[in-house]
Amino acid sequence: MNIAGTLVRAAQANAARPAVSHGNGVVLDYGELAEQVGRLAGAMRGSLGLERGDRVALVMTNCVAYLEVLYACWHAGLAAVPVNARLHPREFAYILEDSGARLVVASEDLVAAVGEAVSALSPEPRVLVAGSDEYRSRAHGDPVALAEVGPGDLAWLFYTSGTTGRPKGAMLTHRNMYSMTMNYLADVDVIDPAGCMIHAAPMSHGSGLYALPHVARGANNVIPESGGFNVDEALALIRTWPGCSFFLAPTMVTRLVNSDALATADLTNLKTIVYGGAPMYLADTLRALEVIGNRFVQIYGQGEAPMTISVLPKRLFEDRGHPRWHERLASAGIARTDVEVRIVDEDGEALGPGEVGEITCRGDVVMAGYWNNPGATAAALRDGWLWTGDVGAMDSEGFLTLKDRSKDMIISGGTNIYPREIEEVLLTHAAVFECAVIGRPHADWGEEVVAFVVPVPGEAVTADELDRLCLESIARFKRPRAYRFVEGLAKNNYGKILKTVLRDRLAGEDGNRPAP
Ligand code: AMP
Repeated sequence: MNIAGTLVRAAQANAARPAVSHGNGVVLDYGELAEQVGRLAGAMRGSLGLERGDRVALVMTNCVAYLEVLYACWHAGLAAVPVNARLHPREFAYILEDSGARLVVASEDLVAAVGEAVSALSPEPRVLVAGSDEYRSRAHGDPVALAEVGPGDLAWLFYTSGTTGRPKGAMLTHRNMYSMTMNYLADVDVIDPAGCMIHAAPMSHGSGLYALPHVARGANNVIPESGGFNVDEALALIRTWPGCSFFLAPTMVTRLVNSDALATADLTNLKTIVYGGAPMYLADTLRALEVIGNRFVQIYGQGEAPMTISVLPKRLFEDRGHPRWHERLASAGIARTDVEVRIVDEDGEALGPGEVGEITCRGDVVMAGYWNNPGATAAALRDGWLWTGDVGAMDSEGFLTLKDRSKDMIISGGTNIYPREIEEVLLTHAAVFECAVIGRPHADWGEEVVAFVVPVPGEAVTADELDRLCLESIARFKRPRAYRFVEGLAKNNYGKILKTVLRDRLAGEDGNRPAP
């Protein structure tokens, strides 16, 4: 049941097909990738002294070696810990210590940061620099056979983005990895072996996970030379490679849509953009469809249930004539084929269509629990159901609409207010580029609504205009009582707005509260 078996089989059937490319050129075909992986796995279990089940951290920006290391871990019966490359060395240290990683594979650009992180640990894990002489010589040793692993064995320790606290390691098993691979093929998109996935988003997260179905199908994995998302580079790669797919965060989609270069770009080769991981507002989705065409799939999932709990496939984006097309586009789609979704109240009682509660789900997609954290595991996994911490509702046709993270919900005067609803309204103003709505403590109401607004560069927008706009579309009590106009919003590497930073900023403001 080893997920690396998909690579072994892909190499048997497609040895000469491109497996990993860098920029415009193929670097490894499937035969070569499988061979490298077998040899590196041999080094891990041999000279590097790792034992079955040991954790190997990947602190790497997207690079060719990413897939070699990932599959070598699995091939050798080890667990991979892909770490967000943009974290601070102190955060690297936390994840390395928490996971107990014995080996860290670092990309060259992160050697100093990794060095700083490991020096804080005792014992220090060993560091191997991807692409270094040592790496190359180790990848030339004797290959080992694919390790036998059980479906419940740990494959990927996925550290949550920690927007609300310390990151927790979601334990993803080989079964989870197979389930994710199968559900991409069943519900997300068709993969043509002649096509490719362009890894412009971090491979420690969605893009890396979606390499798996592409490897299983023997398709190409293209690593941009920049190792990240850059609009001009992405457009150039689309010109080069036929049948391209991307996994992007909504903020990346919006950057692509708003770029001047798009007007003259040739998108013939662009097959699919899968987006998810954070809300994409209706106004942005409509604009994206207009300028990029029907190439989108939306997914909703989390590290604890990767990649996807529900999906809005292309055919539903296409269904323009449907009377609730807009509502459907604003939703997170329908539950995937092998995932059960239930909206529940605080006691776990199932709620009816349209009723708002916590989103729970069940199926092979759900993690085994949090690493070394039985308390958090017991809170998240109850009677076989994953409590996602997301608040939402499901309509009678099975469309799931996300309201917000339960921790982001604002309770004012005893009533629940979902920031996303207000954000959707503010974004319909032509001069609003981005916004984020949060609650701040209020003596009488418990909390009151505050909006952070980033105006479109060169355009002006006032609090009065936005207030009028809100009064036209939502209940009075939901409208923001204060606005903060800012130049940008802090985001993490995965494009999620860090509302904690905004809350801290408000907490730091002294006696600066406008009258309600
Ligand atoms: P992560 O575990 O870092 O992938 O974050 C998962 C969280 O991102 C979910 O629990 C949701 O709060 C949010 N999220 C994921 N997909 C979507 C989506 N399609 N729409 C809105 N929020 C999403």
